[in-house]
Parts: sequence; C-alpha cells; structure tokens
Amino acid sequence: MGAAGRVLVQGGGVGGLSLAAALGQRGVEVDVVEAAGSDAVLGVGLNQPNNALAALQEIGVREQCLAVGFPFEPLVVWSPAGAQVAAIPPPAGRYGTPSNNAISRPAYNAILRDAAEKAGARIRTGATIWEMTEDADGVEVELATWTGKHTPPVRDAGSGSDRYDLVGGFDGVRSKVREHLFGDRYTPEFTGSANWRITLPRPADLTSIAFALAGPVKAVLTPISAEQMYIALVTPEPGNPRHDPDDFPRLVRDRMAGFSGRLGELRDSIRDDASINYTPLEQVVVREPWFRGRIAIAGDAAHTSTPHLAQGAAMAVEDAVTLAAALDEHSSLSQALDAWYRRRRDRALFVADMSLALLKQESGKDLTEREAELLQLGIPGAQARLAQEAY
Ligand SMILES: Cc1cc2nc3c(=O)[nH]c(=O)nc-3n(C[C@H](O)[C@H](O)[C@H](O)COP(=O)(O)OP(=O)(O)OC[C@H]3O[C@@H](n4cnc5c(N)ncnc54)[C@H](O)[C@@H]3O)c2cc1C
Repeated sequence: MGAAGRVLVQGGGVGGLSLAAALGQRGVEVDVVEAAGSDAVLGVGLNQPNNALAALQEIGVREQCLAVGFPFEPLVVWSPAGAQVAAIPPPAGRYGTPSNNAISRPAYNAILRDAAEKAGARIRTGATIWEMTEDADGVEVELATWTGKHTPPVRDAGSGSDRYDLVGGFDGVRSKVREHLFGDRYTPEFTGSANWRITLPRPADLTSIAFALAGPVKAVLTPISAEQMYIALVTPEPGNPRHDPDDFPRLVRDRMAGFSGRLGELRDSIRDDASINYTPLEQVVVREPWFRGRIAIAGDAAHTSTPHLAQGAAMAVEDAVTLAAALDEHSSLSQALDAWYRRRRDRALFVADMSLALLKQESGKDLTEREAELLQLGIPGAQARLAQEAY
C-alpha cells in the first residue's frame, strides 16, 4: 500500500474530483465533501490546454472531454474592430495535439464526477468539514451541512466522526482547509480587475479562441461547442464594486464601447435578459509547503491565478494526478507530500505570477522588477515553457 489508504477531499471542483478519481483508481478509499448542491451553477466554460489533457488522460477522461468540447490549435488576435491581425501558433511541446480543447464547465464537472464515482469515491454534496483533529496516526474529521456562503454550516449532530490518513483541501480560492493550516496569513487579494462572461451563439468562423484589446478592456471569445461560444471580458473595476445583476447587460455593453465592427455587433446583440456571470479576479499564492502533517491544500486553494494563461484548472488537475502518484510511490506520507510539493511548486507559481503580470500589463499598472522580467517571455514564451516542461 502507498502512503494513504483513506483520504478525505474537501471540494468537488476540477481538482478535487480529479484527485478522487486518481486515488480511487489506485484502490484508495476516498470521500469527497462538496459545499455546493449537486445542481450548482458551475459557470460557463474553460479552455483545457494540452498539458491538462495529458493529466486527464491519466484518469482516463481525455477522450470524453474532446468528444464534448471544441478542440483548436492557434490563438487568434483580433483588432478592436474584430479583424484578425495575427494567429499565434501553439508551441511545440511534449503534450501533442490538440493543443487546446474548450469545454463547458457543467460538462467537464459531470465527466470528472462520473470518473470519481466509477473509481469508488463517495461524494457528499451540501457538506463541509466541521472539525479536524490530527494525531500521529490519522485525522479525525466531523462533518457539517453547508447552509450557504453567508451563513455558518450546521454541525452534523449524532453522526460521529471518521478517520483518514490524509485530508486534501481542493476547496478553491476561499479555502477553509488553507485557513485551518495557515490562519489568516493567506487571504485572497482583489487584483483590480473582474471577468464578465456572456454566452452567445458561436459564429461559424470562430474556430479558435480569439482575443482583442481596446484600451484596458480585453475581450476573449471562446467557442465551447458547435452551437455556443462565450465572451469573457476582463475589465478594470477599481474599488471592487458590487454591481446589481440586473445592470450586468448594460454595464457589459458600456465596457465594450471601445470595440467596433463585428465585436461591436456582438456587443449590440447582448440583450437585457442575457445571462451574465461576473467574477472579481482575486489572487492568493501560498509560498511555503502546501501541507502540514496529514493535511494538504492544492489547486486554487494553494495558488489561485487570474485566467490570463487559461491554466488555473490545468494546474489543479496536474496537482491532483501528481499527488495521487506521489502517495502511491512513497510509503511515508511526509516523504510523499514533500516530493509532490517540490515537483509542483515552481510550475504552479510560475502560472500564478505570470498571469498576474499579464493582468497588470494589460490594465496599465506598475510592474515589479520580477513581473517585468516574466513579461519578457510574452504569452508565447510562457506557453512554450508550460508545453515543454514535464508536470
Ligand atoms: C473567469 C475565469 C476563467 C478561467 N478560465 C480558465 C481556463 O480557461 N482554463 C483553466 O485551466 N482555468 C481557468 N480558470 C481557473 C479555474 O477556474 C480554476 O483554477 C479551477 O477551477 C481551480 O480548481 P479547484 O478544484 O482548485 O477549485 P474550484 O474549481 O474553485 O473548486 C473548489 C470547490 O470547492 C468547493 N468548496 C469551497 N469551499 C468549500 C467548503 N468550505 N467546503 C466544501 N466545499 C467547498 C466549491 O464549491 C468548489 O466546488 C478560470 C478562472 C476564472 C475566474
């Protein structure tokens, strides 16, 4: 047996479900607690770069993702008027083709959930950890019922506790497992920008991600199926305002005022009843080991990045499959976690740091010396590094 026979994962997003599948497939007993209900709205879509597809291949779901997603090769650059001005070819690397696959988030989550359940993982939705008590041989865990983001969970009276060899926190940017390990040392910081996502019919000739800049506003068009695409708009939002969702369509049209031509036509097609997701972009990066004793964090809980390289979820899947492999390869838990963290740290932190540098450059903010140095690479250089380096 490897370093852990029973594992509890908090967070059933991309990373947590990938870990549950990878561990279950190795014969590890896995429980997952996920705060959201099973019918939670998961957002619009995302891009799976080929390093993510390679990690997904390890848990046997790459082909399923390709079957429901939209594979493509270059990144296309548009002028603010929507005319193509460049196509950035995908870098040559170790992960093959397709270089990218855009997929709807609900479809992605369903594929991962199915893989985790087929591997024997038990997934409890609407639940969270109430208390964890660690001793030399394990972690005693009591659970609670999740009652919402703004109300406290309710302790599960009478259901007792369970014991695990390891608790993995894949519970996202506001991770409670991270708080358990580090207190308030790491709290998400607002980056000054936000992301608006609007789902629209896919124009027939949109067959790759296309992006355009108009001043500090970036529009990224992503095809996610034969029928649909979404526009992700990154805008400066000084002071992190709380917008009324009823105003979203008007605010998006205002923020797209600098675009014209076919981008202007798309802007004008956004109706007052359009469904729009708004996410203030936050960052939190843990720059010390992502574990203590028998409790570890990974994915966004350890290194949230802004979406500028479309690699955050890719890093979460890579974290998951490499953690499962490390637990398999080592008989000592501390050695497994240490080897895993050393393997993952530089790559995941590079994505977080480079993504933030790109955000700051696009929104005209002052850069640190290190950020200026990272930006010398540009997006193609960063992509080449991620495509050539082994995860
Ligand atoms: C606008 C935007 C666009 C993006 N586009 C891309 C892209 O194209 N490609 C890409 O690779 N990445 C992209 N990302 C990044 C990607 O979404 C994240 O990096 C990825 O979702 C992280 O996965 P995770 O499993 O670590 O966390 P999450 O996906 O956030 O999952 C965490 C899970 O934990 C649950 N949870 C939280 N708290 C608790 C609790 N206390 N108890 C129990 N459960 C809890 C949550 O409900 C959630 O299901 C984008 C991000 C944003 C904001």
